[in-house]
Amino acid sequence: MPSATIDFLHTSLTEDIPATAIETPGALLTWEAPGILSVEPHEPSHLPAAIISVGVHGDETVPVRLVDHWLRGLVEKELRVQRPLLVLLANPGAVQAGTRFVEHNMNRLFSSSAALGEDAESRRARVLMKAVQWFVERHPDGLHFDLHSTIKPSDRERFALVPPACAERPLTNLMKWFQRFAVDAWVQNRSAAATFANFSAGLGYLSATLELGQVSAIDEPLDRFMPIIPELEGLAQGPSTPSGHQTQGYQVLREIIRPEGEFEVCLQDFVNFRPLTAGTVIARGETEEWTIEQTGDALLFLNAQVPVGHRVALVIRPN
Ligand SMILES: [Zn+2]
Repeated sequence: MPSATIDFLHTSLTEDIPATAIETPGALLTWEAPGILSVEPHEPSHLPAAIISVGVHGDETVPVRLVDHWLRGLVEKELRVQRPLLVLLANPGAVQAGTRFVEHNMNRLFSSSAALGEDAESRRARVLMKAVQWFVERHPDGLHFDLHSTIKPSDRERFALVPPACAERPLTNLMKWFQRFAVDAWVQNRSAAATFANFSAGLGYLSATLELGQVSAIDEPLDRFMPIIPELEGLAQGPSTPSGHQTQGYQVLREIIRPEGEFEVCLQDFVNFRPLTAGTVIARGETEEWTIEQTGDALLFLNAQVPVGHRVALVIRPN
């Protein structure tokens, strides 16, 4: 029997956090607040720290359950943790309710100007930003993976969005982990949004929103996602080693923003990353028509149902 264990998910959903830290031969795991767990290796490490966040969207339970599994393994297998970690269950209220959010999409609230409200998500976003700031002060060099899952089909099953704050930085270390995590595509986002990844990137971390794959149910079996567990263990235990996985980079050509007046999305059967043919009409407004300029260009996050002034889709091109 292992001498210690951890129940990350269950403990994150309770108001009372354990007062005592969990000590393993490799590390000290401390509950800083509900859903906020720091892991400090006993031996000082030269490796960049890592923040792993899950449950920003409460109905995306695959990443939540994977991280629960990963942490239990770290503790019970007494793995030698080499890297300081901050593990966050971002939106416990929404996870508890099994909904994307309680009042607001939390992944638009990670900036001091966006999270001003007294709603559940704004309050929680402020707590999380404080926790991340505290962690970054202790460990200025680090990585942040904000893990999500999607219900939309995608030609690239697993993909990452790198926030604008990382755009001009060397991304080598991030790319190595994309390969290890079997990320099929990554997109350099250039328009600012108050996402969790952009917040940590603004503090100097190499950050990404990572869409682990398509799921169809809240209790989706974890089996096909399990290969990421040894890679997360590898992240905790040491530097990245090479992986042969091909990760295709994409640039964002433009954002389609819903204009005033009549507006219609013309594409049927939309799939993320699916290459489209030049001339394909994406959408039509009263004064503008959006078409695919070059064969091979693709769309991401197409949503015809957004209000005026909101993003309808990103038009992307493979590098
Ligand atoms: Zn999400």
